[in-house]
Amino acid sequence: PNLSMFKMEIKADLLLLNGIVMTVDREFNVVEAVAVKYGKIIATGTTSEIEGLKGKETEVIDLEGRPVLPGLIDSHLHVVGTGLLLSQINCRTPPMASISDICAAVKEEADKAEPGDWILGRGWDQVKLSDHRNPTRWDLDKVSPENPVWLTRTCGHIGVCNSLALEIGGVSKDTPQPVGGNIEKDEGGEPTGLLEEGPAMILVRRHIPPTSFEDTVKAIKLASKAFSEAGLTGVVDAGIDSTTMRAYQRAADEGGLSVRVNMMLHGKIGDETPDESVNRINDFPITTGYGNDLLRFLGLKLLIDGGIGGRTALLREPYEDQEDNRGILVMPVEDLQRRVDAGNLAGMNIGIHCAGGGAMDVVLNAFEQTNKKRPVKGRRYSIIHAYQPTEENFETCRRLGIVVASQPSFLYYLGDSYHENVGDERSKWLKPHRAWIDNGIKVAAGTDSPVTPYLPFPSLWASIARKTEVLGTQMGTEQRVTREEAIRMYTIKGAYYTFEEGTKGSIEPGKLADMIVIDRDILTCKEDEIKDTVVLRTILGGKTVYEA
Ligand SMILES: [Zn+2]
Repeated sequence: PNLSMFKMEIKADLLLLNGIVMTVDREFNVVEAVAVKYGKIIATGTTSEIEGLKGKETEVIDLEGRPVLPGLIDSHLHVVGTGLLLSQINCRTPPMASISDICAAVKEEADKAEPGDWILGRGWDQVKLSDHRNPTRWDLDKVSPENPVWLTRTCGHIGVCNSLALEIGGVSKDTPQPVGGNIEKDEGGEPTGLLEEGPAMILVRRHIPPTSFEDTVKAIKLASKAFSEAGLTGVVDAGIDSTTMRAYQRAADEGGLSVRVNMMLHGKIGDETPDESVNRINDFPITTGYGNDLLRFLGLKLLIDGGIGGRTALLREPYEDQEDNRGILVMPVEDLQRRVDAGNLAGMNIGIHCAGGGAMDVVLNAFEQTNKKRPVKGRRYSIIHAYQPTEENFETCRRLGIVVASQPSFLYYLGDSYHENVGDERSKWLKPHRAWIDNGIKVAAGTDSPVTPYLPFPSLWASIARKTEVLGTQMGTEQRVTREEAIRMYTIKGAYYTFEEGTKGSIEPGKLADMIVIDRDILTCKEDEIKDTVVLRTILGGKTVYEA
């Protein structure tokens, strides 16, 4: 290595020796060893070269041939939701195989709770349940008559509640359908308990006691610990309010933040009117780039449609077997534009949840419009999820420098429901990472946890394999990315997304010493084994924050 810039008496704080260190630098060089000082990488090279930086106080880790990667970055998830989930009923499959399994878990909680306490859970996917249908209020009433129940579907865009919760929310046969949402009703017009999209879900959800500040801090710490164990050293928390930002600061001050966080302010909180949102954005005291290496403000997050799994993503054509259903636009186009313009003029980076192609067209048009008010190029605006790009979308993204925040994990965990909802042909083009990259557009990876588990390796693998979890269906083999590309999407591209490619995302001198030691060489192991990679050690700024 080039050590000439360091006087030779400089000794490292930490050495990693005898490993397979994937630097993820421009050439994807693999070296044996790394030296760290003051939380930063000072040199990489062969073991014998790096050993020369060993002093009396230097901590030395012998990797014994194990691979090292830059710390992984999840470019789109929800930290508090993830932390709270760790303390709510986990309705995912596995462990839940059927609605009766979910009901049994609800009963167990209800038996422990005081009457009136809310029972909360998250993560069901009807496609994976043996019943092959959504739970209803009648299922839940049997096990929790005296406690309101609210369960959120895996996508986060659909909820189901029991009759008591419906009553508390004032939802009945006569409740009109809210704009941008749907109260599912049976043939007799009775609500089934299923509420689709924010405007419908809010009717019940607003009665759930808000998470206290202390509980928010706790959830952040819980999630942070889980992220370190999973090998994440950076995350983008998309769509939070200023109180949550303060909770982050508390968690960090108390030493409870072991992952670097980029925070995105929510562009619409609760049932805020456009005026209220615009005022809040205008009054927000900080803008993109403010903060430090641990906790930074990235920008504004907006959301305009749902997900394909729940048939609420806004498509360009109808869903399978439902000629009149193209999905839901949750915010009128004019209102979206007002919020986008406010964020733009406040100097903010903006990322917008747009899953279906119809929603992508709306969002990219909003970026085009706001670009006339203040240029967007170079400000790394993003489209989040972005399943169905067209050639025209590629052109717009290239021209405006739009980044894609994609979640390969969706193909694995949610892919079976995609197949059912948009059919075989359209499934092949969902999240076409190959095409994005070949069109010169930067793609950062993630999981949208708690929508899918925050574990990075199943998601990283899914961008390569594109296989669904239950049936193992391959979703468009021509859209596979290479292993190197998959790793870049989880490291340097994530750093790029948050303007931090100069300090994060690769193992190069001068960068923060964020690294993970893993149990297998994911460049050479069998493809399907990438998914089960185990993290042995997570190092953040030169300090071990997790060790298996
Ligand atoms: Zn999200």
